[in-house]
Formats: sequence, structure tokens, C-alpha cells
Amino acid sequence: MCSESKDPVTSIFGSNVFSEAVMRERLPEDVYKALKPTISEGRPLDASIAGVVANAMKDWAIEKGATHFCHWFQPMTGVTAEKHDSFISPTSDGRTIMEFSGKELIQGEPDASSFPCGGLRATFEARGYTEWDCTSPVFVKENGSNVTLYIPSAFCSYTSEALDKKTPLLRSIDALSYQCLRVLRALGNNTSKRVIGTLGPEQEYFLVDAEFVKKRLDLVLAGRTLFGAPPPKGQEMEDHYYGALHERVACFMNELNVELWKLGVSARTQHNEVAPAQYELAPVFGTVNVATDHNQLCMETMQKVALRHGFVCLLHEKPFAGVSGSGKHNNWSMMTSDGINLLDPGTTPHDNEQFLIMLCAVVRAVDKYAGLLRASVASAGNDHRLGANEAPPAIISIFLGDQLTDIFEQLEKGGAKTSRQSGELKLGINTMPSIPKDCTDRNRTSPFAFTGNKFEFRMVGSSQSTAGPTFVLNTIVADVLGEIADELEKSTDVHAAAQALLQRIATQHKKIIFNGDSYAPQWEAEAERRGLLNIRNSVDGLRPMLDTEVETLFEKHGVLSKHELHARYEILLERYCKEINVEALTTLQMANRQIMPAAIEYSGKIADTVVAIKSAGASANSPRGILSDLCELIDTLQVNIIALKQAVRVASDIDAVTVQAEAYRDSVVPAMNSVREVVDQLENMVDASIWPLPTYAEMLFLR
Ligand code: ADP
Ligand code: MG
Repeated sequence: MCSESKDPVTSIFGSNVFSEAVMRERLPEDVYKALKPTISEGRPLDASIAGVVANAMKDWAIEKGATHFCHWFQPMTGVTAEKHDSFISPTSDGRTIMEFSGKELIQGEPDASSFPCGGLRATFEARGYTEWDCTSPVFVKENGSNVTLYIPSAFCSYTSEALDKKTPLLRSIDALSYQCLRVLRALGNNTSKRVIGTLGPEQEYFLVDAEFVKKRLDLVLAGRTLFGAPPPKGQEMEDHYYGALHERVACFMNELNVELWKLGVSARTQHNEVAPAQYELAPVFGTVNVATDHNQLCMETMQKVALRHGFVCLLHEKPFAGVSGSGKHNNWSMMTSDGINLLDPGTTPHDNEQFLIMLCAVVRAVDKYAGLLRASVASAGNDHRLGANEAPPAIISIFLGDQLTDIFEQLEKGGAKTSRQSGELKLGINTMPSIPKDCTDRNRTSPFAFTGNKFEFRMVGSSQSTAGPTFVLNTIVADVLGEIADELEKSTDVHAAAQALLQRIATQHKKIIFNGDSYAPQWEAEAERRGLLNIRNSVDGLRPMLDTEVETLFEKHGVLSKHELHARYEILLERYCKEINVEALTTLQMANRQIMPAAIEYSGKIADTVVAIKSAGASANSPRGILSDLCELIDTLQVNIIALKQAVRVASDIDAVTVQAEAYRDSVVPAMNSVREVVDQLENMVDASIWPLPTYAEMLFLR
């Protein structure tokens, strides 16, 4: 079943990428030298070189079999978009030549009118522009027999307003670099030219046999099951996490890796996740921009390769009720152009002033803008994880671990003097050497955990783009670093000023540090006492985007104008409404056209049996009992279906998007749950041969 790739990984890796090595080889030296500082130092692009670069790209792509090129961008739909044009250009003598101009590389003009814009553009103003982002490498993608050159691009309106996820991310990269360099310079670093956020998003997903999915309209349309009684076995045996990979899944993963490696996506770790049928893939981290593009490619490729193996890859945050949902763990740090990880504590963090400043900046940023960070992960799908049936909870807190918490406490008291050191791991087995322990144990329950030399933001939903949470993180940290730089720059004694501000931050923000079990019910009460936010749904979760403080933040750092920010709020709320509307309509259709008929058919069969038994002169007490329970459920189902229909009608008629979203949250979602509740009871009663839907046990355990 596995299609073996015989080529060594080193020759596959990046083979479809117009990488730096390819550029160096194929571009004239002066052109390469002009492009390089734009890519690595964020300098403005010299547009005059575009023609030469485009030509080299075209020749390279044609050698790979490409006939088309496309600007590849990330509108606010949650998926990527692409419009293909061919290289073919007719000549006057009736032949064609293959052409690709500098202008075509730099700029595209897709019609913007069918993408969400949140009022940034009137419908008649259809113009939208895509612009080449040369900081993320161009690549060719094979889609069946079609090979196309992909040009990562930003997408904006005629008025230069951002209509996509990449633009604010790119702007935030500059903001973070600028403010962070100010701090580094104040501390005496004169060598780093740029600071860039790094990102390693671990991606969780489910694989379900495609034959089952075809029979489930909910999975096809909504990406999650809207019905399904709990299976007799769930994840309680704790036997799936890190379990041996099933052969069919291993084949899928092998092929996925090869496809990703060709695209230069460094898929590295793969394993079974907690829930049955759930898996995870972690890449080697990269710069936030490239990592975000790669995560999009990763999600697309997973879905594509899964189909080849007869699976459907589910990226929804909660495909199955009652078992763990899927997230994306965004590992984030800051790296200087000369390779220093600014969140690396070293062996004696207490006297690593630069590290402590960076650490405290993140702590203050996360506490000060907790609402905004929460907003950056709000979505209808993620509502099933955050603050609902599972962790991480919706409360934003930070895990620092024993060593750093101890230092943080010392800072509060006036200065850190020591760093606790870790011991060694001794198993008491002679043949095994003792190995050094990490300074801190792991915490799996914290939404924002320090993990050695980076932070891991775990609230991000599995289907979300990493761009949103990342540009928020970049911006809030840039903001606090800006405050710190202001203070350090005007002080006469930098180290005294640094100590004072570290003490102040430790005192002001200790409330957000929590190393305990974030899943424990006591934590909610404790967090409330500490005054931490606990927002359990997206409608409330998005609201901080409208805070004046947030408007000022984004405007100050040039990441989003007030207009762009409000448009985004609107787009996200609209999306919330639309997703729930699709779920509600799917619930109605499945309930009316599949479940009700099955339940009625089965009740008819029992009724016939009761009549037959009675006419044969025997007692039909049990079948009659079953029949009356069944009929009662059928009645309730009908009532609940009518109530849901009504709730959808009312909600979909509301104009103001906030009020509409509240109606979906407060009326439609509960009405949908009531339909489901009855259906799940029916599932446990109705003859399995009549039941129209594959069950949880089948979908989660058969592969
Ligand atoms: P863990 O075992 O703590 O999850 P790993 O080393 O497996 O740590 O890393 C998890 C993810 O974090 C990987 O995708 C990895 O590339 C990423 N990562 C590691 N270091 C950094 C960093 N400095 N910045 C961003 N991501 C990082
Ligand atoms: Mg991890």
C-alpha cells in the first residue's frame, strides 16, 4: 500500500522550492545580492530586479514541468486562495512562447469582491491586489498532472487595506524587530541587525476512513459530527497516545512527509495523539512568516494525501464529542539575525539580564493584552475546546516552571541572586548512565507555557491559521518592548533601570503565573479571585478587538488601522454565524431525512411485531414498552426539530452582526444540542441495520 520513495531525504528536501541555494545558483550575482537583504533583513525590495528574478523562476519552474503560475494568498476565509495563469504568450507568427514578467511576479489582480472584507470595500469596488512576499520562498506544487509555480503573496484592497492574514503578520514582524532592537541596543548589543519571531506549530488532526465520512453529511459539510452516541470505549484506556502506529496510518505519514519535504516543510515529529484516530505532526521551527505558510501547506497536504490512502483528514477543533479535540501548539520565540534565541535562559538565568527582560516583556504583554490574545483564537470550532468540554481552559495564564518562577519571585523582592539547578535522573540500573534532568517538569495543561527556550501557546485551534495569534503575539510583545526601550534609553544607569523594571513587572504581573493544573475546577475560582479573564465563547471572546486600548496598540505599531481592525472583527463574527448556520441546517437535514425516517421505520417494525405477537396469543409487554419509549423520543425529536428551525429562522433574519451572533450562540446552539441529545438516545435504541449513520465506535476504531 505504501508508495515507496527511493530517493534519500536529503535530495527530496526542498526539491520543489526556489530556495536560497537555487537563487544563488540561478540569479546573476548582483541580482542575488540585491534580493538577499530584503529576505534576511527586511529591507525594501528593489523592484528593478523583478524581471530577472521572474525569468529565472520561470525557467526553473518549467524544468520542473510547470505550465502555470499563481499568486498564493490567505484571504479571511480560513483557507488559501490561488488564481492560476499560464506562462503561455502568443507571438505574432502564430506560435507561443513561455513568458513571466517582473510585474506578474510582483503583482496580481484577483477580483476581490467574493472574499470577505468586513465593509472595507463596497461590492462595486471589486479591485484587489496580491503582492509577492519575497520573504517566503516560491515553490512548485504538483497537483495530479498539473504543475504550478506558487508565489506566496499578500492581499489588499484598492485602498491598500489588508484583506488577508499575511499582511498584518508581515507588519508585526517589522514592529517586533524594531522595538526589540531598541532594547538590545540599549543593553549594548550593536551587532544584531534584525530580530524575527520564530514559530513551530504542532498540528493535531484526525484520520477517519473515507467510506464512513461519505455517509455523514455532518462531516462532509461541517467537518465535525453533529450526532453520535458515546462509544463503549473512548480514550479512557490511555492506549492511543504515542501508541505504535497502525500500518495504514504509517504509510499515510510516510507519504505526507515526502510531499512536505519536497515543499521544504520540515515535518519532523509524528505520533498518535490522546484520542483514538488522532495524530500530531510537528515541524522544525522557522521564521513566523514562513512557518505560517508552511502550516497552511501542511494542512492542505494532509487532506490531499489522506484521500490517497482512503482516509479523510479532519482538522476541525472538535470532530467528536467526548474525546479530545485538536489544537495547534504554537511554539514561539524571538531570534536575532546573528542566531541568538532571545528566550534561551542559559544555565544561570538569574544573571542573564537580557533574557529576563525578554521573559518579563512576554509576561507583561500576555497579561496586559490577555483579552486580545483570547480573541486571536476565537472561533465557533474552538469554542468546543476553550472553556467548554475540555482543556485548555479559556483562562489565560502562564506556566513558567519551578526555576523561572523562583527567579520571578526573587525579582519581585528586588533582584535575582540564584538559579535553582536541576539534578540527574537516576533509575538505579547499572547499565544506564545517569542523565541530566531538565530544570523544570512539563505542564501539559497551561494555555501559555514556557518550554525551555520558547513559549508554547496552546489555545490555537487546529484549523486556524497561525497568522492571527502570531501577529497578535508579535505586536503585544513589541509594544511592551517599546515601553521598556523608552525607559532604558532615557536612563543614565541601564542596569539599575533594568532591575527596577523587572521588579515592577514581576510585582504587577505575578497574578498571571500559574504552574498548577489548569484543568482542575479549583483553578477557575482561583483565577477569578486573581481577576483573570475567563471568556467561554467566541462572541464575547472577539469583543476585546473593539477596545480603545487595542485600537491604539495596532495603530501605534502600524499593524492594523482602526478601520482594518473593525473589519476583521466583523468578518470573524460573520464567520461564526455562518458556521453555526451550516451546522444547524445540516442538523435539520440529517434529522429530517435520515434519522426520523429510520426511527419511524423501526417503530413501525415493532408495531407490526406487537400485533403479530398478540394475535399469536402471547404477551407483547416488552416490545410494547420499547415501542412506547421510542414513540416518546420521536415526539420529542419532532418538537426539538421545530424549535431549531424556528431558532435558525429568527437568527438568520437579524441584521446587526453582533446581535445575530448572540442569537446563534444563545438560541441556535442550544436548540441544535437538544436535537442531538434525542438523536443520540435513539441511536442506542434503533436496530443497527436500520441506523443510517456510521457510529463513533466505527469511525474512531476501524481503520
Ligand atoms: P517539545 O518536546 O517541548 O514539544 P520540541 O523540541 O519537540 O519540544 O519542539 C516542539 C516544537 O517547537 C517543534 O515544532 C519545534 O521546532 C518548535 N521549537 C523549538 N524551538 C523553537 C524556537 N526557538 N522557536 C519556535 N519554535 C521552536
Ligand atoms: Mg509541545
